Amino acid sequence: MSLQELKRVSAELGRDRLHVQGAGGNTSIKVGETMWIKASGTLLADADEKDIFVPVDWQPYREALIANPLSPVSAQDFALGGTLRPSIETPLHAVFEDRVVLHTHCVETIAWAVRTDAEPQFAARLDGKFRWHFVPYARPGQPLLPGILEGIERGANVFVLGNHGLIVRDETVELANDLLRGVSEALRHPPRVARVELSNAETLMPYVAAETWISNQILTHPLAKAILRAGPLYPDHVVFLELSPVWCDTLEEADEAMRNEAPAIVVSGSGAFLNPQAKSGAAAMLACFADVLSRLPDDATLRHLTRAECAELLDWDAEKYRQALGQ
Ligand SMILES: [Zn+2]
Repeated sequence: MSLQELKRVSAELGRDRLHVQGAGGNTSIKVGETMWIKASGTLLADADEKDIFVPVDWQPYREALIANPLSPVSAQDFALGGTLRPSIETPLHAVFEDRVVLHTHCVETIAWAVRTDAEPQFAARLDGKFRWHFVPYARPGQPLLPGILEGIERGANVFVLGNHGLIVRDETVELANDLLRGVSEALRHPPRVARVELSNAETLMPYVAAETWISNQILTHPLAKAILRAGPLYPDHVVFLELSPVWCDTLEEADEAMRNEAPAIVVSGSGAFLNPQAKSGAAAMLACFADVLSRLPDDATLRHLTRAECAELLDWDAEKYRQALGQ
């Protein structure tokens, strides 16, 4: 068991867009009484090349969280040096006694977790194979704790987070990684094959055309327009794309969205386009959206984040810190 091993596995997960997008996801290991947790705003993909982990005084922090899970406890107050801040999702790692915790924004998980019938869909695929627990959507970080603690009480080692992602816990890096990949495999969807003819890309300067496969996945999904107009499906979508990519039926609508400096727009028949000034995570989030869409059946009923949930995410100080690092 070592931090070195966690760095290797974290980098592997971080470089796989079906597990981690941009600065999303976080991993941790407890060595003695110290918990090493990914720092806020850093990339898991850099784990084997840069110092992205922060040491935290684990037991006192854990005790403070468990004593009163609903009153905010700052992980920063328990950091053991360095200039980086612990991930905003540090509470989700600290409450577990297990040595290793992996949290990813696994696309196979998200594509079920955004549905109104998420729980029975997970049950159909995970019951009998995994000790899993469903945690309904709450703002990432400490608000998820009551749901996590309930799962711990039930003996779960797999936590699916509504409209968010996946957490696994185990005693070694290898066991946790095997568990995460096993769950992801059990939740695998057959991606649909999408092909469309795209046009007019050059007319949307200075916006940059997204990769063709992204446009294909979004434009060929029969529900794409309705989904985009109904709002975001998961938190990073809100944070990095300032709510959702804007759906435009016409080039006139696209012009207006560009004047409003939307981070991303989707133009019917033309494709998906990114604002070159958008946050650096925006391209990864647009790709994630295409990956999720390509796994949704045409008749899926979705649970979108509410306006209140979106507002809560956009006013979030810790999240602003993460964005300020430019990742
Ligand atoms: Zn997360």
